[in-house]
Amino acid sequence: MTHLNRTRDILRDLIAFPTVSADPNLDMMGYIADLLDAHGARVDLIHDATGRKCNLFASLGPEIDGGVMLSGHSDVVPVTDQDWSRDPWQMWEEDARLYGRGACDMKGFIAATLALAPSFTSRNLRRPIHFAFTHDEEVGCLGAQSLVDALRDRDARPSVAIVGEPTMMGVIEGHKGCCEYTTRFTGLEGHGSAPDLGVNAVLYAVRYVNRLMQLAEEMKSRAPAASRFNPPWTTVNVGRLAGGVAHNVIPGKAELDWEMRPVQDADARHIKGALEDLVATELLPEMRRIWPEADITTETIGEVVGLHPVKDNAARHLIAELTGANSADVVPFGTEAGLFQSLGMSVVVCGPGSIAQAHKPDEFVALDQLSQCLTMLERLGQSCAA
Ligand SMILES: [Zn+2]
Repeated sequence: MTHLNRTRDILRDLIAFPTVSADPNLDMMGYIADLLDAHGARVDLIHDATGRKCNLFASLGPEIDGGVMLSGHSDVVPVTDQDWSRDPWQMWEEDARLYGRGACDMKGFIAATLALAPSFTSRNLRRPIHFAFTHDEEVGCLGAQSLVDALRDRDARPSVAIVGEPTMMGVIEGHKGCCEYTTRFTGLEGHGSAPDLGVNAVLYAVRYVNRLMQLAEEMKSRAPAASRFNPPWTTVNVGRLAGGVAHNVIPGKAELDWEMRPVQDADARHIKGALEDLVATELLPEMRRIWPEADITTETIGEVVGLHPVKDNAARHLIAELTGANSADVVPFGTEAGLFQSLGMSVVVCGPGSIAQAHKPDEFVALDQLSQCLTMLERLGQSCAA
């Protein structure tokens, strides 16, 4: 069977596991573990605290330090409220494209790496090839964080990572960070006719948002001169603000979902510091003068560190050799790559399909993209056996 046919079969199986981030992924990870085990890989499953989800880390080749890690996330975004033309969990093929939830983000890449496992095994690998598949990428890279912790404890670990997020097989060497928060405001409810007797949670939330927007403006002048990102500065987004019940009631609660995408760690620290300052010195003292139990708390939903482009990047050199790509780009979306870099690995993002199709109804990956990916992986096998 050709590698492409094998990839198609595996992708059909992977798409049939509805691994939406909120739901367990153990069935799919069990399927992958069996498949890799059958080809002689050493497979570890690393469970999360709930026991409902796990990361999978597997290795082929010698048990030595270094080697190349092929990385992907097992979870997909929900299909609720999306208008799919067919069942999103049953892969279909049309016009040389494979459709289904996760086809490009990023089960297509995972299927391609698994399809090549027998080929990797048949070679006399001198450098190990590792598979790292995580849970909960779409909701803050939670799995990758615990995978990084697990890898830190190992004597032998990969030195190069290829993260197969959809880039149309282009090479990405940098992306911004992505930090998401929910800030909750607790005031004191009261009758609308006596605003001074309550603590209006919505009004304090609005002041918080105003400060955030000031900080967002400030970021424009802090963009590093060499920044290749578009836009070149750290951005801030207010995604959701909710609170209050009726015209004549002082709202006692408000909730704000916001995010920032830092181009440098100092910006993230600056924004957090400025907000903590506003809360501690202005908002809370005012609120508590009227109601001592008033509060403002911020929950961190996820802090995905950025991938910083570096001059001497072994992963970029390797992928250039494998794909012939002679340039590398930066992108505005976050991936797990920054976390792996923080562990001292050389990292690039390169995978089949387009980010334009990710998270959309009728998500697809083109067969031609999978073929290009398979060629890259075959050359990787050769290169690790050389
Ligand atoms: Zn993804």
